[in-house]
Amino acid sequence: MRIISLSLNGFRNYESFRCEFDPGVNLILGQNAQGKTNLLEAICYLSRGSAFRTRKEAELIRFGAEFAELSAAVESYQREQILRTVMFSGRRPRQLFLSGVKKSSREELDGVLNTVLFCPEDLLVLKKGAAERRKLLDDALCQLRPKYARALEEYKRLLAQKSAALRERIDRPEMLELIPDYNERMAQTGAILITTRAKYLSQLEQRAALHHEAFSGGLEKLSLKYQTVSTVTDPKAPALEVYQQLRDHQNSHYRAEIESMQCLSGPHKDDFEAALNGLPMKAFASQGQTRTAAISLKLAERDLFEADSGELPVLLLDDVLSELDPGRQDFVLNQIRRGQVFITCCEEDKLSEIGKTIRIENGAIQA
Ligand code: ATP
Ligand code: MG
Repeated sequence: MRIISLSLNGFRNYESFRCEFDPGVNLILGQNAQGKTNLLEAICYLSRGSAFRTRKEAELIRFGAEFAELSAAVESYQREQILRTVMFSGRRPRQLFLSGVKKSSREELDGVLNTVLFCPEDLLVLKKGAAERRKLLDDALCQLRPKYARALEEYKRLLAQKSAALRERIDRPEMLELIPDYNERMAQTGAILITTRAKYLSQLEQRAALHHEAFSGGLEKLSLKYQTVSTVTDPKAPALEVYQQLRDHQNSHYRAEIESMQCLSGPHKDDFEAALNGLPMKAFASQGQTRTAAISLKLAERDLFEADSGELPVLLLDDVLSELDPGRQDFVLNQIRRGQVFITCCEEDKLSEIGKTIRIENGAIQA
């Protein structure tokens, strides 16, 4: 997979931008606040239909502009296609096009352009809270499995509705009558989330362990374990089995949920534990080990995309290299030699030897 060219109009600090890219490494250089990350954000938006720094479309539109238009020529599966999105400043919904044909839903664009994004916050994902680790799995799976993306959206909607019903039960006791129906549907979709994530995590573990082992000179063994609702004995079991165990958990927590007015049962608090040579990383890993394992996870994510879809996804590295020591930088650069990569960076250094360098200043390419 690769991006041949990108055009932006009124996106973030870009008034009007057009650039052709190298099929290999593209180095995006510039001072702070010039628009380097904005460029990666535009690519991400075209690929996934959402931005990684904001949920609000209005923030993506250039200050004072009526609309933003993003378009990219993309090659995947030996086919060239044009992804195009127009978003508007008012209430008018965004428009999506594939090679000039208007699409009514985001899902119709799935798989045209897959991206793996790596930013400095991801370096600490194994030390942070469970939400970040769930997001790592969800972001990858939403791109890989459309059925998963639908289940996740449905689960989040049900969770919000059930939580509202529990919160409002004092003023509106009739809301509690809705709980059995929410529970049934949350157990069904929850079982899809758990089994899909757990299977994906074990594939991720295999690949990430190889990268981490190479990284650590064969000294450290990385392992990943999915953690979910206590009644689920094997998260990789058939979804029907997990569904039944989720129902059991809901039933035994029915009273507690009503008393606490909170949704206590389901995979919305799930997590995974990373360990090195059996020691949980959250408690014991050093800074360097945490970073190394995080890089291994991202490289593994890229491997799995390739194994699954037959094409290497486009890799987006936002400011990551400057956060790494020279040894780790070299390792990453050696591992990413295949496929298309976008790297943002403030300083010019040895990186400028490879691929194409694009200098950005105040939302424009520097001549
Ligand atoms: P750094 O090296 O600090 O990470 P960067 O080059 O990655 O910098 P970006 O995050 O891409 O910088 O761009 C930030 C700039 O874009 C900011 O100056 C911000 O004010 C501007 N910006 C963000 N959103 C908009 C918008 N909707 N309209 C106009 N400008 C915007
Ligand atoms: Mg930036």
